[in-house]
Amino acid sequence: MNGKEDDPGQGKAEPLACSECIEGLQEYLDGTLGKQTSLRFFMHLRDCEACEAQHVALKSLFEMLDNLPSEPVPADFDDAILASVPYAAYRQMEPLRRERVPVYLTEHFLPQFVRSRVTRLVGLGFTVAVVGANTVLAGPSWLPALAVLGIVPEVLVRLQGLGRRVFALGRAEV
Ligand SMILES: [Zn+2]
Repeated sequence: MNGKEDDPGQGKAEPLACSECIEGLQEYLDGTLGKQTSLRFFMHLRDCEACEAQHVALKSLFEMLDNLPSEPVPADFDDAILASVPYAAYRQMEPLRRERVPVYLTEHFLPQFVRSRVTRLVGLGFTVAVVGANTVLAGPSWLPALAVLGIVPEVLVRLQGLGRRVFALGRAEV
């Protein structure tokens, strides 16, 4: 096999294999390749008919795409898209969505700091850390109780979510 250094000392760019050339043609055409790499492509394309043919074909395709007239979006485009979406089931649930859930099940019933992801994650981290420390160090007997505090925000938020779901189910069955 030819090594990468079969043409050492000449300061020339390493020859490009056809597969590499075809793979990178789009980037070459986009002009996103580095100068040196771009030069390797240039030289390969100059010497390789097969790749040059691909190059010409891709280039003309890009030019054609660039020159396509921009079509205005049909006026009913949005409606057509929306009509294709199965909204029937969603609409059937409309009354359900309009039902007011009890205030203690609304998200805003809990203070923002309890609902905040950071509080919940920090709390969980705290619990894990305390439980871990307690396991290793055999801490005081009240430590597990302290650890439970950490999961309170997460539990509150989850209970609320569960409550909302139960409430919605109850309504759905009526
Ligand atoms: Zn080639």
